Amino acid sequence: METTTRQHLETRIVHAGRDATDRTGALVPPIHLAAAFSRESLDVAPAFVYSRRGNPTRRALEDALAELHEAEHCFAFGSGMGAVSGAAMLLKSGQTVLLPDDVYTNTHRLFTSLLPGHQIDPHFVDMTDATHVEAALAGRDVGMIWLESPTNPSMKVIDIAAVAAIGRRHGIPVAVDNSYCSPYFQKPLDLGADIVVESTTKYLNGHDDLMGGTVLVNDGALAERLAMIQYVGGAVPSPFDCWLLLRGMKTLALRMERQQASALAIARYLAGHPRVAAVRYPGLESDPGHAIARRQMTGYSGMIAFEVRGGAEAARRVVNAARLFQRAGGLGGVESLISYPIVGSGASQAGTAMAPSSALVRLSVGIENVEDLLADLRQALAT
Ligand SMILES: *Cc1c(COP(=O)(O)O)cnc(C)c1O
Repeated sequence: METTTRQHLETRIVHAGRDATDRTGALVPPIHLAAAFSRESLDVAPAFVYSRRGNPTRRALEDALAELHEAEHCFAFGSGMGAVSGAAMLLKSGQTVLLPDDVYTNTHRLFTSLLPGHQIDPHFVDMTDATHVEAALAGRDVGMIWLESPTNPSMKVIDIAAVAAIGRRHGIPVAVDNSYCSPYFQKPLDLGADIVVESTTKYLNGHDDLMGGTVLVNDGALAERLAMIQYVGGAVPSPFDCWLLLRGMKTLALRMERQQASALAIARYLAGHPRVAAVRYPGLESDPGHAIARRQMTGYSGMIAFEVRGGAEAARRVVNAARLFQRAGGLGGVESLISYPIVGSGASQAGTAMAPSSALVRLSVGIENVEDLLADLRQALAT
């Protein structure tokens, strides 16, 4: 379909991911389980050689993800962290990475526990003010600026275009972890970022039944290195997981519209609740990140962070009292989830300057009826 880039995203999602090698007309791509592909002759370059390097089902997925992000190149990985690690392999020893002071726990762990052993060091910055990023470059050999927006778990909004402009001025690649938004609500490459990383486990798949990740770039030189990292590093997804993700992605638009509509209603409810001290949801006009979010996002997704009055004990009580919201990690699926980041995802930051508040509760709003979700929060907050 040559005209696809002119169609709306929700239309393209439904039709993306056909297998280009398929001659049967199948609406759904087959799952190619072959580990290796036979070649006609040593003189003819084959489309596929070995599945770690390239596989038709994975190719269908990568083409679909590239289409959604309007990216030139896409690389699928076996998990979001596989993708984060893959992007981090672009760094060289001796370099520093700038990171936001609130960042997904395992990204924090990678940059503070594993990579320093390879002489790659993190430097944390409050990126909600982009001038802090510029200031942090002085006197450092910064090899990459890494950010996520909104941040996990505190929902801080970072101006991606402003940080990307700083990166461009200094010739430093800017990587954006877009797991909280999916391409349906935010396209970092359009905003000037060089690298997009996404945990496809989250919104893109949306059904909590696979692990996956992706790295997307427009730049040919970055793509060449990422192709090597994917092929030689080997953190590739199985053909079955690629197929499952293609299936999950088809309903991305419907799910995300529902999730953000319910999340906005829930955020408004929480903002008016006497037992709630603060709510972070970029869709609220009162949110400190609202103006930037409006500029760079086309929707606000289904993630909410709120602080319970009464500190850690009160927050734990609310989480434990939930009946419909499931106490589970992960996010972005059809089921609504409630989590207490300080013991779960915020654990590695606990006790540090970047620890999330001990009263912080995180919600991933699913696609259930919003009245049922509100009723569950009402009873949980009453305990
Ligand atoms: C979940 C998550 C990841 C890691 O993805 P996995 O698929 O769980 O490995 C990375 N970044 C963010 C922002 C996430 O929420």
